[in-house]
Amino acid sequence: MAGNQRVCLIGAGPSGMSFLYQNNKLKAAGKKCADVVCYEKQSNWGGLWNFTWRTGVDEHGELCHGGMYRDLWSNGPKECLEFPDYTFHDHFGKSIPSFPPRTVLFDYLQGRWNKAKIRDCIRFNTIVKHVTYNKTTDDFTVTVKDLTNDQDLPPERFSHVIVATGHFSVPNFPDFEGIDTFRGRVLHSHDFRRGSDFKGQRVLLVGSSYSAEDIAMQCRKMGSGKVITCYRTKPMGFRWPEGIEERPLLTKVDGNTIYFKDGTTAEVDVIIFCTGYIYHFPYLPESLRLKTNTSLYPAGLYKGTIWMEGGNNKFLYLSMQDQYYSFTMFDIQAEWACAVVCGHLKLPNRKEMESDIAKWLKKLDLLNGCFDDIAFQTEFVLDLAKEVGCKYNLDVAALYNRWENDKRANIVTYRDQVYTSAHSGKQGIVHHTPWFKAYDDSLDTFVNQTQNK
Ligand code: FAD
Ligand code: NAP
Repeated sequence: MAGNQRVCLIGAGPSGMSFLYQNNKLKAAGKKCADVVCYEKQSNWGGLWNFTWRTGVDEHGELCHGGMYRDLWSNGPKECLEFPDYTFHDHFGKSIPSFPPRTVLFDYLQGRWNKAKIRDCIRFNTIVKHVTYNKTTDDFTVTVKDLTNDQDLPPERFSHVIVATGHFSVPNFPDFEGIDTFRGRVLHSHDFRRGSDFKGQRVLLVGSSYSAEDIAMQCRKMGSGKVITCYRTKPMGFRWPEGIEERPLLTKVDGNTIYFKDGTTAEVDVIIFCTGYIYHFPYLPESLRLKTNTSLYPAGLYKGTIWMEGGNNKFLYLSMQDQYYSFTMFDIQAEWACAVVCGHLKLPNRKEMESDIAKWLKKLDLLNGCFDDIAFQTEFVLDLAKEVGCKYNLDVAALYNRWENDKRANIVTYRDQVYTSAHSGKQGIVHHTPWFKAYDDSLDTFVNQTQNK
């Protein structure tokens, strides 16, 4: 048997960790696996779940990766992202509510990773600076920097490279006329850390997706003044609580006065751009670089994973999709990628790969709204599951559809609902306090609460 492939994995967030986990599973089963070196620029694993108080640059002067805020709770039910081989009940030994705070989800992820003993594969505080594909030897040269010692390390060779550096870290920051005359604070949601920073202030949010929705609610929950959200394409359309309203996009700013497309104006103290993120791979040459807007199926990736424009099927991306499914999608994609890299799954010829991509892009074009989007991503997940012969049913579309309806019914109380796990059969319990009034989101209180108020 030929030796193991030598794989460079970039990033130890949930996707990168899923690759290490799946590779370890092959190893434990005595099957051919890969020799993986994972480079992680932060000092801990977890990616976005590794909370940071920093904004802008990190302690080494590199782009600060983390953009979660202190008071963030899951915006989807945990039953939609639960690993079938490691349920929430397995981890906590009891039922907990369906919408956990950030720390609780991070604890759950770490429970699975710790069990697999894969931490040793990660070189922390080590950033990938450059990757090249060597055509003559059909492999890659990877250059990294040891950030702790400010030292460039000797280049290393790998048979495969896997990019798992995420795509929700580098702000998309549009400009608006007159914004330089604004006398308050202007920031991107990536740098939002606490709703309480805006107590008593009138807030303008630009954007109409998850960050705008959740930051509007966070600000009001933590005592901000009035919040106006404004949209480019379409309003979110929720039945907002008192103090939140939606308007069409702003057209210009003059001092603290904001002008909107519908001819109205408003005075605000703070502007928060909830305008999403750009795909940013400063360490990749153009021939290997994915260029896309946020999409459920970025073009150029076979099965959403294998880069078609360079690297001879040995250059892979994980979790570049927009996300309804998150942890379970990362995991099945990682399992599929692992099977390909280790030779357990054979790729079809290039023509078939191209026509498979074209088939998905055609379906993508026909989507019309969130229920279609959920069905599309479910099909994507199930397609990968079928290819690797996954024994679990990963389809949680019905739960996602219910979640969308719960949000439509009441954006304030949707996090107070409980869902039932398809894998453990256990129902979540009702949180002791409604989310909108719950200020203690510590792991201990959340997990060990004893009564429903
Ligand atoms: P990331 O988590 O971004 O991890 C990428 C890793 O790559 C990081 O550790 C980073 O340090 C490392 N890295 C980057 N560049 C380099 C380099 N050059 N060299 C070495 N290492 C590098 N999902 C949910 O399921 N539920 C939620 O409630 C939820 N909330 C979210 C809230 C916010 C504000 C955001 C932005 C996202 C949220 N998400 C949520 C989605 C989130 O994208 C995923 O949960 C998950 O973190 C994606 O994992 P990842 O490993 O692909 O990327
Ligand atoms: P996003 O989903 O990509 O949305 C970007 C928004 O910005 C869209 O509404 C888009 O409008 C708007 N936009 C982009 N460019 C604009 C411009 N030039 N002018 C006006 N509007 C513009 O990004 P996101 O909302 O930051 O969400 C990213 C991820 O974070 C998601 O996975 C989400 O689940 C996660 N998240 C989770 C939580 C939580 O509670 N757990 C909280 C926040 C975020 P168009 O529709 O017009 O394109």
